[in-house]
Amino acid sequence: MTATYEVRGQVAVITLNNPPVNGMGLVTRQAVAAGINRAEDDAAIKAVVITGAGAAFSGGADIKEFGSPKALAEPNLLSLISLVEACSKPVVAAIHSVCMGGGLELSLGCHYRIAAAGTKVALPEVKLGLLPGAGGTQRLPRALGVEPALNMIVSGEPVNSELLAQVPGQKLFDRMAEGDLMTAALALAEEVADVRPLPRVRDLKARFIEKNANPDAFFQFARNMVGGMSKNFPAPLRCLEAVAASVTMKFDDGIKAERAGFAALMVTPESGALRHAFFAERATTKIADVPADTPVRQIAKIAVIGAGTMGGGISMNFLNAGLPVVMLETKQEALDRGVATIRKNYEAQLKKGKLKQDKLDARMSLLSTTLNYADIGDADLVIEAVFEEIGVKQAVFKQLDEVMKPGAILASNTSTLDLNAIANFTRRPQDVVGMHFFSPANVMKLLEVVRGAATAKDVLATVMALAKKIRKTAVVSGVCDGFIGNRMIEQYSRQAGFLLDEGCSPAQVDRAAEKFGFAMGPFRMGDLAGNDIGWAIRKRRYQEKPNLRYSKSADLLCELGRFGQKTQAGWYDYQAGKRDAIPSPVVAEMLDKHRAALAITPRQISDDEIVHRLVYSLVNEAAHLLEEGIAQRASDVDMVYLTGYGFPLWRGGPMCYADQVGLFNVVQAMKRFAKNPLDDAEFWQPAPLLARLVAAGKTFS
Ligand code: NAD
Repeated sequence: MTATYEVRGQVAVITLNNPPVNGMGLVTRQAVAAGINRAEDDAAIKAVVITGAGAAFSGGADIKEFGSPKALAEPNLLSLISLVEACSKPVVAAIHSVCMGGGLELSLGCHYRIAAAGTKVALPEVKLGLLPGAGGTQRLPRALGVEPALNMIVSGEPVNSELLAQVPGQKLFDRMAEGDLMTAALALAEEVADVRPLPRVRDLKARFIEKNANPDAFFQFARNMVGGMSKNFPAPLRCLEAVAASVTMKFDDGIKAERAGFAALMVTPESGALRHAFFAERATTKIADVPADTPVRQIAKIAVIGAGTMGGGISMNFLNAGLPVVMLETKQEALDRGVATIRKNYEAQLKKGKLKQDKLDARMSLLSTTLNYADIGDADLVIEAVFEEIGVKQAVFKQLDEVMKPGAILASNTSTLDLNAIANFTRRPQDVVGMHFFSPANVMKLLEVVRGAATAKDVLATVMALAKKIRKTAVVSGVCDGFIGNRMIEQYSRQAGFLLDEGCSPAQVDRAAEKFGFAMGPFRMGDLAGNDIGWAIRKRRYQEKPNLRYSKSADLLCELGRFGQKTQAGWYDYQAGKRDAIPSPVVAEMLDKHRAALAITPRQISDDEIVHRLVYSLVNEAAHLLEEGIAQRASDVDMVYLTGYGFPLWRGGPMCYADQVGLFNVVQAMKRFAKNPLDDAEFWQPAPLLARLVAAGKTFS
C-alpha cells in the first residue's frame, strides 16, 4: 500500500507510504484519492488528516515516473489537489521532515496545515528547469506572501519550517506542532471539524509583505535580477512570471498560466539537460556486476603518500568528512609545506566566513604526518599521490605491499600510468584501485574510480560509498591511457591545435567555446593547467603513435618556454599576480610563421565549426570508450564532463548534447570534417557504436 487509511475517533488519517520519500506517483495519488472519497462517504468521519510515513511528509513527484505517461495519468497531481480542496470535510496536512515539490503543493490544497519544527520546505522544480506545475506558483504566494514565495520558487532551495512560520501574516502553517505531530494534528482536526466555510488558499489574495509595495516595480526589479543571474536557464524567469500571475490574475487563470509555463519549459533543451543530469548523477553509482548490497570494507583511517598539490587536496576531503589522515613523504620539508598549504586553505575559508575556528581546529587535529611507512600500516585505505613516474610508483607500491595490513585498499591517483601494472607491483592486485581526483582535489566534484583487471568488487563498492561520504561524483572507468576524461580531452586538444593551424587565433577558439558555455576555452585552460603537461604527454605519443597527426603549434609554444600562467606567458600574456589573459603578439607571430612554413593560407572559420569540431571529437572518442567498455554508459561520460571539465550544465554533457542535436546530424558533420585535408580523416570515421545508433535511428540515452 502506498497510502494507508485508518480511523482515529471521528478523524480519517491518510498516511502516504511510498519509501524512501513518499513520492507522489500514480499509485500513491490513487490511494490518497480513494482515502478522500472514503472519508466523504462515511458519515461518522468529521475531518481528515494527511501525513507521511517514515522520513518525509512527501518529497514530491515520483522521479521514477518522470517523463512517462504515468506522471500525467489521472488522478494527476492537479486533479488530486482539487479533490482534496473540494472535500466537504476539513482536511489537515500534518507536515514533517521533508515537504517538497508536489508534496508541498498537496499540502497547500488542504484546508489546514500543521508542521513539525525542522521540516525542510521547498519547491525545487526550478532545479530541473521546470516550475511547480500543480498550483505551487499560485498558492504559495497566497499562503506565504509574494516576496518569500518568489525566493523559494526561483531558487528551489529548502527553508526550515520554523523560519517560514515567522513570516509576518503568513498562512502557510496554521500551527507549529509542539510535541507529537500526530497528536497535535488530530487535536486540530477535532477543533475545526465543524468550522464552515472551509478555508481555502485559493480564496486568499497574494499579498506583499512589505507595506506599500508597488507590484509592477517589484516584478520589474525581480525580472532584472533573476534574468541576470540565470542567463542560460529559461526556468527562473518563467517561475517569476507565474508568480506574477498569482498577483495579477484570478486563481483559475493563474493556474492556466502556470500550466502553460510548465508545458513550455518541459520541452526546452535546458530542462531536458537538467533532468538528464539529475538521473545521470544517480546512475553513476550503479555498477553492472557489483550488486548494490555488496558488503563494503570499513574505512576509518586513511593514509596519503605524497603531500604535494594532489596529496594535500585529497587529504582535505577526508578531514572535512571527519576521517583521520596521515600523510607520508620522503622529506620533512615536504610534509611541512603540505601541512602549511592545507592550513592556509582552511584559513582562507575562515576569512570568507565559510568555516568556523572550532571546525578548522577539529579538522587540523585529524591530520598527522610521518616519514616512516611503519606508521601507516594500520590504515584502511592508502592513496598514493607521488610523482607521475612508473619507477617511483613501483617503489611506493612495493613498500605498501610490505607494510599495509591485510584487506587495506591501495589506491593510486595516477592520471596516465597503467593501473594494472601498478597493481602487479603488489602481491594483492585485488586490493588495488585507481582514485583519480581532479585538481584542486578539495574542490572538484569529479572522482574517476579506475577499475583494474583484478580489482575486487567489494573494493569498488567501498570506494564508491566513500566517494559519496566525501561528496564526490564518482564515475567508474576501465583502464586505458587517460581513462575517460583525459582520453577524450586529448582529441579535443588535437582539434583545438588544428584550428590554429587553419587560421584561428587562440582567443577566437576560446571565445567560441566559452560562448557555447564551456567554463574556459582550450587555450585559457592550457595556460591555467600548464602547457608543459600536454607537451610531456605528446612527446610520449610521438613515440607510441608516430603516425597520429598533431598540430605542432603547442610544441613551438613550449619551446619558447611559454608554459602558461605560471611563467606569465602561454597562449596569452599575463601580468604579474593577475589572471587576465591578454592576446599575445608573440604567439600571433609564431602562428603566422608556423602556417607559412606549412604553406597554409589561413581561412575564416565560423564559431559553429569551432564548437562542433571540439564537441564532436569528445563524442566520437566517448563512443569508442563505450564500445571498449571503459565507460559503462553514455550518461557517465556526461557526468565526467559536467563535474570535471566545465561542460555547460544546461547542455547536459557532450553525449546529451549530441542526442539533442541528433546523432544523424553529428555524423553528417563528422563526414564534412573528414574531408578537410588539414584535419584527421581517420579520426572522424564514426565510432562503430555511433554508426550503429544512427543506422537504428537511436540516441545514446
Ligand atoms: P606534486 O609534485 O605536487 O606532488 C608529489 C609529491 O610526492 C611531492 O611532494 C613529492 O615530495 C612526493 N613524493 C615523491 N616521491 C615520493 C615517494 N617515493 N614517497 C613519498 N612521497 C613522494 O605532484 P601532484 O601534482 O600532486 O601529482 C601527484 C600525482 O597525482 C601524480 O600521479 C599525478 O599524475 C596525479 N594527478 C595530478 C593532477 C594535477 O592536476 N596536478 C591531477 C590528477 C592526478
